[in-house]
Amino acid sequence: MTDTTIEWATKTWNPTLGCTRVSPGCDNCYAIPEAWRHMHASNPKVAAAYAGTAHKVDGRTDWTGRINLLDGRLDQPKHWRKPERIFVNSMSDVFAARVPVDYVTKIWRTMQDTPRHTYQILTKRPERVARVLDKVHAELGLTQPLANVWLGTSIESDEYVRRADALRQAPAAVRFISAEPLLGPLPSLDLQRIDWVILGGESKSGARPLEVDWIRDVVDRCRTSGVTPFVKQLGTVWAKANGAADKKGGEPDDWPEDLRVREFPAAA
Ligand code: SF4
Repeated sequence: MTDTTIEWATKTWNPTLGCTRVSPGCDNCYAIPEAWRHMHASNPKVAAAYAGTAHKVDGRTDWTGRINLLDGRLDQPKHWRKPERIFVNSMSDVFAARVPVDYVTKIWRTMQDTPRHTYQILTKRPERVARVLDKVHAELGLTQPLANVWLGTSIESDEYVRRADALRQAPAAVRFISAEPLLGPLPSLDLQRIDWVILGGESKSGARPLEVDWIRDVVDRCRTSGVTPFVKQLGTVWAKANGAADKKGGEPDDWPEDLRVREFPAAA
């Protein structure tokens, strides 16, 4: 749990730690080296929380596949008095197969008990969401999705637009897409019943290039479809090529004017 520099959230909450890669959008997953670093932290509580989640293979850090369920963190949001926009599991995936449904139910119970907060859950496994939430809702006696929970899926290229179809099957007050890192154009992306789209180029070392027209096209389609766009950053390659002061290309003043859009869905 921590305050975050992520532009669209005010806090992160990680009741589970650990993941596995699922698609090219995971190639430069920032969470893996972070997990490795925390595993070796001098603070024994931090090291224990991350224990066994990452390892080195041929000199490269990767997930081991282990996911730690941190019961002690389940109540953290209850202690945050002021309303926060909380990114759930910045270091894991709530819908990873190794997170048991009972544990997802516990996460949902905390969110149900803290309606002052808005929770943003992003998954690369949207095909599991409807099935898992059927059980979670039944357990909690919910007949409607929680109004304070936004469900999102990451889509990095046109090959993965089917994730939006899976997301549409899930009960959610707000559905969103994170097209970050955007690795190609998204001509097949269907924006029906999507409320919010976050767009961004890749950042840090090894970042892959972005063409601003990929972002421009989705922003334009959001405009004509009544979907709210949020451009987060244009990425490291763009920043370098354009002499931008912010290394991630995250300063809107540096961008073409039509891309300077950072809006939140009406539910916010
Ligand atoms: S799903 Fe997210 S946390 Fe998991 S490996 Fe991919 S980018 Fe990293």
